Amino acid sequence: MKLLRAAVLFSLLYFTSFIADAAVAVHNLRQWRAPDHTRLVFDLSGPLEHRVFVLTDPDRVVIDLDDAELSSPLPELDSSGSLLAAVRTGKPEGGTLRIVLDLKAPAQPRTFVLGPAGQYGHRLVIDLLDSNAVEEESKAALQPESPPVREPKRAPARPAAPKAFVVAIDAGHGGEDPGALGRRYRTREKDVTLAIARELARLVNQKPGMRALLIRDGDYYVGLQNRFSKARAHRADLFISIHADAVPGRQASGSSVYALSEKGATDAMARQLAEKENAADLIGGVTLNDKDEVLAKVLLDLSHTKTIQDSLMFGGDLLSELRRVGPIHTTHVRQAGFAVLKAPDIPSVLIETAFISNPAEEKKLRSARFQRQMAQGIFQGIERYAVRNAGGSATAANRSPSRGTALAQGESASRGGSAVVSR
Ligand SMILES: [Zn+2]
Repeated sequence: MKLLRAAVLFSLLYFTSFIADAAVAVHNLRQWRAPDHTRLVFDLSGPLEHRVFVLTDPDRVVIDLDDAELSSPLPELDSSGSLLAAVRTGKPEGGTLRIVLDLKAPAQPRTFVLGPAGQYGHRLVIDLLDSNAVEEESKAALQPESPPVREPKRAPARPAAPKAFVVAIDAGHGGEDPGALGRRYRTREKDVTLAIARELARLVNQKPGMRALLIRDGDYYVGLQNRFSKARAHRADLFISIHADAVPGRQASGSSVYALSEKGATDAMARQLAEKENAADLIGGVTLNDKDEVLAKVLLDLSHTKTIQDSLMFGGDLLSELRRVGPIHTTHVRQAGFAVLKAPDIPSVLIETAFISNPAEEKKLRSARFQRQMAQGIFQGIERYAVRNAGGSATAANRSPSRGTALAQGESASRGGSAVVSR
């Protein structure tokens, strides 16, 4: 009798553990709307195999998940402004879980799975690309941008219309990637960075001859590499990535400015920060198209020390202005291998505006007043840099000799060959 009971218990245990091993639980769904696609993220208890089908009339996307089951009903999604009309699930056969996405218009799906990162475990990501976005993307893929040749060999015969000084403003994180979280109010870094970025864009756009390019203007994730490709596509003169730092402990305070380093980080903390910020793609859900490592390497190889020198100079201008806004964490521009700063021909900096891990600074970061002051400080740093460059580096080739002499004494010498007009 005892033996029988043990045998039953054993087989029950064996059976349940077999079930638990076999079926991957699908337990949540999040939706993020970007200008050109809708992203759906399913949380999973483990990795799984999946297949995707596109059906028309009516437009649907069907995803079959092998050996999977729904552990709880999926949350209701807000379908306003989204391609998605409804999400349905079913169990067609065996252990397959079928997810049907009813669409309002045709869309191209792109799916991938992500391993655990940040606050998330295993995930299945489904991007529904708007049909016009797909066309543009394939066009862009067919015509890769030429390598960054900044100065034409010869001055153009007719003077071109003056190009605006374009400032690319990158609000860090977004969508699936909340960034760092505040301790006291659970403030999300992605919300603070967007608020400061929008305020900065407003200031830049008010300035004649300057134009702001917001890399993201909403709560969605943009891959790190796409952030700088977007800046390059718009021929940006500066790239500014806005963040709010978090470290263990509540004491650390103040702003820091970082530039890319070719050789390695200037200190351990800068290296750790770069690793943390670079991990955003794992958390935010990078798309397969972002993983163009060959392109990334080519871009990085073209990176020359001059862009980094310009970035350091710009970083110095920023620090001079930011010290009027609040405390400065480090008095010099620190360097590390930030993926988001790898635009080889655009001077680029990453600003950690304040420490969201410091409760007093978290409170400041939430306030519209501080966000405005921070944007104002960054804007003044941009102006300082633009004046110093007498129109911006991108227009160096069009610079007339008289403008060249307008540079301060010693300035042209320190900027080396870049201030010389090639004819
Ligand atoms: Zn960040």
